[in-house]
Formats: sequence, C-alpha cells, structure tokens
Amino acid sequence: CGIVGYAGPRDAQQVLIDGLQRLEYRGYDSAGIAVVNEEESLQVFKDEGDVTKLTGSMPVIEGHIGIGHTRWATCGKPSKENAHPMIDCENCIALVHNGIIENRAELRDRLENEGHIFTSETDTEVLVHLLEEYYDGNLRSALARALEDVKGTYAVAAVRKGSNEIVAARKENPLIVGLGSEENFIASDVTAVLNYTNKVIYIEDGEILTLTPSGVEIFNDKGEKINKDYITIPWTA
Ligand code: GLU
Repeated sequence: CGIVGYAGPRDAQQVLIDGLQRLEYRGYDSAGIAVVNEEESLQVFKDEGDVTKLTGSMPVIEGHIGIGHTRWATCGKPSKENAHPMIDCENCIALVHNGIIENRAELRDRLENEGHIFTSETDTEVLVHLLEEYYDGNLRSALARALEDVKGTYAVAAVRKGSNEIVAARKENPLIVGLGSEENFIASDVTAVLNYTNKVIYIEDGEILTLTPSGVEIFNDKGEKINKDYITIPWTA
C-alpha cells in the first residue's frame, strides 16, 4: 500500500505511475490515479491488480497535478469499485488513503442519512464524503475538520477539480514531501521521489499540508503554520 502525489510542470500521469511502481515492494492488490487538468476536469482511472495491468488499459490523461494509490485491502474485497481514488460531488474531489478508519460504520450511517451515495465497501469512502460535506472554499480546512470526526490511522491525500493544490495529512502511516524546483511531491516513501529530488521533509502525526507546484505549507494540529527543514537524502539509495 502506498500513496504518491505530484504538482508541477511534468506530465502527472507519468510521475504517478513511476512512483507507484517504485512503491510496489510494499505490496498491494489494486491501484489507481486521479489527475486534475487545465480543462477543469478531474479524471480517475483505477482497477484491481498491479500497476502494469493498470497502465495496460489506461488512456493518456493530461494534467499536471495528481494523486495515486496502491491498495492493500483492509475493508472491502479487492475490486475496481473498492480501488482508490474515491470520488465525491460528481467527480470534483478525489482522495486516496492508507490505513484504517475504525468508526466507519457510524460515519457511513450518518453520511448516508445526509444523502451521500456510497459506491464502495471501503472504510476510506467516508473520508471523501466528509471532505465534500465540510468543503467551504478551503480544502485543507475541510480535511482538518473531516479528520476530527475520524478514529483510526491514515496517510491521506486529496485533490479538487479546478485547483492546483494537493492536501495531505498523516496519523500512524508514513508520508513524506519531496521538494523540487517549481514542482513538489508527496509519497509514502522516499523511493517514490528520489528519481526527481533528494530534498525530503518527513511529515509527523497530526500535521496537515498543502502542496502546489510553487511551494508546500505545513500546519500543526492546532492549525498553526510551522516551518520544517528538509533533509538531503544521499543519491546512492
Ligand atoms: N482501509 C483502506 C481500504 O481498505 C486502505 C487500505 C490501504 O492502506 O491500502 O481501502
């Protein structure tokens, strides 16, 4: 299971697939990507199986911002429907998640009562609906608010149609940021970004971030912006 994210001038699809391939050692049963493109669309492509199978049937998806996921099923069988990214509001928010949401049943009941239609059996899907519920012009605030409702573990990342921003957070699952020049990355592990940069920030539990091609902003669990130094990983990895 693993997460990757990219914001920059490159073809996001290529960077995401490359990153997912480098995370393959972590093991998984399904994979998928979501790419935001300039035409203000958000395209998701996902399937059961490995990254090679995914790329075999995937069309060219244009865009420079995106997130990708390899899934190790904990809740819901391996299938296309249960593969991430999960989406809400007619394809306007996409989200990937590693970890387990323990209070999924209670949250799902609440969200279904509020009119959200679930399309998978996963625990993760509650997160994308919570994000939609709390979105009020600021995706990071919406994610922070959504995570307050959640009991469990996560490395989570999301994108929104019409925005060049990725938001992400973690609790008890790994998440790193890779800093490039006019491009930035997130991943579960440095191996996914070392091809592009060796400047890395390790995200800690409770931190939440926004990432665009031009920068990364990290906030603590009180919503205060914090400064974190990057470390330089030797290229020999
Ligand atoms: N619990 C989530 C699911 O089953 C995420 C699994 C993972 O960490 O890949 O879909």
